[in-house]
Amino acid sequence: MSEEQEIAIGREMDPKIIQEYGLYPADHLQHYVETIGKRLANVSDRHDLFFHFKVVDTPLVNAFALPGGYVYVTRGLLAYINSEAELAGVLGHEIGHVTARHAVRQYTKAASYGIATNIASIFFPQINNFGQIADIAFLAITSGYSREYEREADRLGVKYAFAAGYDPQAISSFLQTLSLLDKVEGKKSYHGLFSTHPQTEERMNLADAEAARKTMPQTARLVVGREHCLKQIDGLLFGPNPKEGIITGETFQHPDLRIKLAFPKGWNIENKPDVVIATDSSKELSIQLRLEHLNKKTPLAEVARTITAKIGFRESSGGGTRINDLDAYVGTYTGRSQTRGLVTARIGFIQDEDIVHVILGICRPEQFAAALPLFNATINSFRKLSVNEAQTIKPARIALYTVKAGDTFAAICKAFGRPPGETKTLALLNGMNPYQTTAQAALMPGTVIKVIKNE
Ligand code: ZN
Repeated sequence: MSEEQEIAIGREMDPKIIQEYGLYPADHLQHYVETIGKRLANVSDRHDLFFHFKVVDTPLVNAFALPGGYVYVTRGLLAYINSEAELAGVLGHEIGHVTARHAVRQYTKAASYGIATNIASIFFPQINNFGQIADIAFLAITSGYSREYEREADRLGVKYAFAAGYDPQAISSFLQTLSLLDKVEGKKSYHGLFSTHPQTEERMNLADAEAARKTMPQTARLVVGREHCLKQIDGLLFGPNPKEGIITGETFQHPDLRIKLAFPKGWNIENKPDVVIATDSSKELSIQLRLEHLNKKTPLAEVARTITAKIGFRESSGGGTRINDLDAYVGTYTGRSQTRGLVTARIGFIQDEDIVHVILGICRPEQFAAALPLFNATINSFRKLSVNEAQTIKPARIALYTVKAGDTFAAICKAFGRPPGETKTLALLNGMNPYQTTAQAALMPGTVIKVIKNE
């Protein structure tokens, strides 16, 4: 693949990434990440390339790069950053994937083995028809690269961070934060390049060794940049953004639309910009929530007909009803899905002034009888939130706090009205190991730390 093709892929896919996650709306932070990123890119092995650095608006903790010089960090990751040098380590690693052309090499390898690549479409269903090259790159950015590539990116990241004047040791402290984050959350809370291969601990040793070797001849004047970095992160949105709706257990709530919906227990729920998708553990059954705007008053049966005709679904039964004081139309349909072939669907259309909420439960026809009660329960759970209920749903933000004598993470958590379960997260946000008692001792009066504050 030529360099031109490589750049073209990045340029073509960048808007898809932005559409998927959104840019985080804070100019100062975008500028900050871009400044540090460009400083590193300028000392990298492909300094003639135009690099682009963007903060994307998702609570997921991740960073990834597209071929051709497009690098992304999530706001979720930035919350856990404790110095400019740590950020430089992350950006350096991603620049390393670009300079070593990992996405391209992975593509070439996969193509030569004839590996099918529709896996990516599970994560990004709307990019189904985007072509095989794009699929490969999406596969890479969502699931990580091989052990060999990750190590190479680690080495390159350390090299670039050091060349730009940053303390390269910082990346190992951030990798430790990430490995502890898994433990605190009790699950792999982020997917992608920092989670899978190689084992984080192994990588920390590598980064340590590399850092030690690099710093030997010149120990002085390496930038860590803690205070300035924390000032940039001050005010950062933390966790889900209620403006886009929040998921608590199986419940989805949207304070601006003032709606609430309960999906079946134990299902995985993903909140995307234009749809909420819930899937069962077998990934065979799914329920989607979307909305349609009406231009003028139209009978709901007709709205249902228009929407289902658009996706080529045929009604086998259906009728008008009321769901929690709202006009509704619920029906059973058969149709065809791109990924599953023949399907049966239970669809609820619920009217809320000029908005129709569409709740679509879908599965293969032979599973429909078993799935129907789950689909119906979800449709019937839909209700409007009162203004008061909606007002209690507020985002949390990172704030800076100066430690007072006698403070503990638990006490600070309580003082800021946050749940006690968040104490460990608070330690981790400040780069401390929540499983070591020394983390409390490290809370020196007068130190500025990050806290989580309700808006
Ligand atoms: Zn990586």
